[in-house]
Order: sequence, then C-alpha cells, then structure tokens
Amino acid sequence: MTLYDVFNRPLENLRISVTDRCNFRCSYCMPAHKFRQGYSFIRSADLLTFEEITRLARGFSRLGIHKVRLTGGEPLVRPGIEQLVGMLSQVEGIREIAMTTNGFLLPQKARLLRNQGLMRLNISLDSLDEAVFQRMNGGRAKVTDVLNGISAAEQAGFSPLKINTVVQRGVNDHTLVDLALYFRERGHIVRFIEFMDTGTLNGWKYDHVLLTDELIQRIGRVVPLRPLPAHYGGEVVKRYGYADGSGEIGFITSVSNPFCGGCNRLRLSAEGKIYTCLFARQGVDLRRLLRSGASDEVIAECIKETWQHRKDRYSEERSNGQRTEKVEMYHMGG
Ligand code: SAM
Ligand code: SF4
Ligand code: SF4
Repeated sequence: MTLYDVFNRPLENLRISVTDRCNFRCSYCMPAHKFRQGYSFIRSADLLTFEEITRLARGFSRLGIHKVRLTGGEPLVRPGIEQLVGMLSQVEGIREIAMTTNGFLLPQKARLLRNQGLMRLNISLDSLDEAVFQRMNGGRAKVTDVLNGISAAEQAGFSPLKINTVVQRGVNDHTLVDLALYFRERGHIVRFIEFMDTGTLNGWKYDHVLLTDELIQRIGRVVPLRPLPAHYGGEVVKRYGYADGSGEIGFITSVSNPFCGGCNRLRLSAEGKIYTCLFARQGVDLRRLLRSGASDEVIAECIKETWQHRKDRYSEERSNGQRTEKVEMYHMGG
C-alpha cells in the first residue's frame, strides 16, 4: 500500500533520529554558544528503545516505506547503534538502511555497521581547510578525524560514499572547488547543500546562502560539468557529472529551487514524534501510543491520518516570510 498526502505526495522514506546529542557543535545546527554544558537533551528514559523503533519500522513498512535513514543529532553517539541496524535489517519490506553521520566515530564503528547490514553512508564534511572546518564544527574535530572516518568506511566496503557539505557564503565557499576535486579523485560523490533556515538558533540570513547556480559556475570554470537525469521522480538532489566522465556531484537546492512538490519523507524523532516537514512547528507523539499499550492497528491509523492531512511546503513558501517557531533539526532528525 502507499499513502498519499493532500498534494498527492506518496509516503516513501523514513528518517529515524536515534539521539538529539552530538559530539560536534556545527554553527548552522547546534551553535556552541547556545549549547553549553548543562543544556538539557532528551532524557534516556524518554528515548525510543531499539525495540520500539523496530516495532514502528515494521508498521511503517506495512504502510509502504522501504527505505530508512538513521540520523540525529549524531547517530554514532547512541550506544550500540549497530544493534539497531541489525534489528532493522530483519524487518520485512525494509530494503535499504542508510545513515548520515559526521564520521568522527567511524573508525570504531564502520565495520560493525556494515556487518549488521548498513548499506549506505553519507558523511558530512564542510571543508578540507583546517581553520574553516573547525570554525564550522565548533572546534570539536580536525579534518583528519573525518578523513580517517572516511577511510574506515571505505575499508569496511561502503562505496561510493556521499559527502554532505553545507555551503555558507563567506564561510567555506572559497574552499569548495578543492573539496570537489579531492573527492572526485577518490570516487566519492559530494553533495553541496544550501545553508537552510532550519530551527531558530543558527542566525540564518538569505545573504549567507551561496545559490547553487553560482557554485555550479565556479566549479564548472575549473572542471566542466553537465547535468545528469534524475534517478527517479522526486529526487531531491540535482545531479551533475564531470564532463570527462570522472565522477558525479550533486546540489541540494532547498533555498534557490525548493522541491516540496516531490517531498516523500517522514521523520521520526528520538523521542518518538513524527514530523511531516523539516521546518515543522510540532510533531505527533507515537511514544505515548506505544507506551500506553496501543495496538499496531491504532498506531498505523495515527500515521495514516497524519500523512493524509499533510499540507507542508515550507521551502516553497519561505519567500513569504520565515516561520518564527520551528523544531530544531538536531532534535527532529536531519
Ligand atoms: N550529525 C550527522 C551529520 O552531521 O551528518 C547527522 C545529522 S545532521 C543534522 C544531517 C545533515 O544536515 C548534515 O549533513 C548537516 O550538515 C546538515 N545540516 C545541518 N544543519 C543544516 C542547515 N542549517 N542547512 C543545511 N544543512 C544542514
Ligand atoms: Fe552535530 Fe550533525 Fe548538527 Fe553538526 S550537523 S551539530 S554533526 S547533528
Ligand atoms: Fe519537504 Fe518541508 Fe523540505 Fe518542503 S520544506 S521539501 S515539505 S521537508
């Protein structure tokens, strides 16, 4: 079965956040001056257990979801995360399990994750310039820490990798051609993400966004690019190939060219709320249902209702003025 929302968008992908904690403090996500020691994150007792997440995944699979992505916060800081991967890989109907990570803990975790059935990895890295990278991650990691994580992922058999790079005008944009060329050499696919106004804490301004067309021109002047066809309808990334056939890069144009029309994603937060948009004000609490003994049918009905009433198209409406109240991205799952 497939569920459709008010605008006829199918429910196809699920992002599962396993924690709202993180070992980095990226300025565009959890700026260090706002998340000092003592900031209160979700209590462990309030996190969905792996059994609860797996039960929900079984229900989502019956509602037509075949792809899940684990995220956070930083998914690798959740103890035993590889066990969850193993449990999800046993769920009938889930054909793809992926993860987005900052890569710092991959030297310890990459092989365990692969052995438990993780299929794809996106690793975030915003610059190869040490000072720029540290400025962006709140001084929590060096470039080599992430490159070591990337090597560990390669050795564990994850290939090609996707490298997620947030683009901020005046912050890292002067280092991005180098980053693209570096990963072209190594056969990985960089995906440049326009800086978004997620949450309310990252000080977003339109002037801080380097629009994708300009970045494509800058890269194209050094290595010619040609657009590639989408893999499937509703693909959020705009794919380009290097004209000499030496690889691929992608652009996520949430600000300059929003893709709400094809948005088929639901997010499940670490405390068990579902969100139908990255810029949502509120979610729907499934943990309350799980912990009050609700049947699978009652939970499925709640998910159906939520999706079928969905009208979100925030990025398409952004130019009418930003929303002042939003759940933070690290909290609902990025
Ligand atoms: N901690 C993991 C990581 O950083 O890869 C997973 C969670 S993170 C919220 C997911 C992705 O969202 C990362 O690639 C991150 O760079 C990106 N991201 C976070 N805040 C963003 C923002 N304001 N604009 C664009 N991308 C953002
Ligand atoms: Fe952590 Fe990822 Fe947010 Fe950076 S983007 S602070 S690594 S959750
Ligand atoms: Fe989907 Fe909301 Fe992003 Fe639009 S703004 S693409 S509806 S998550």
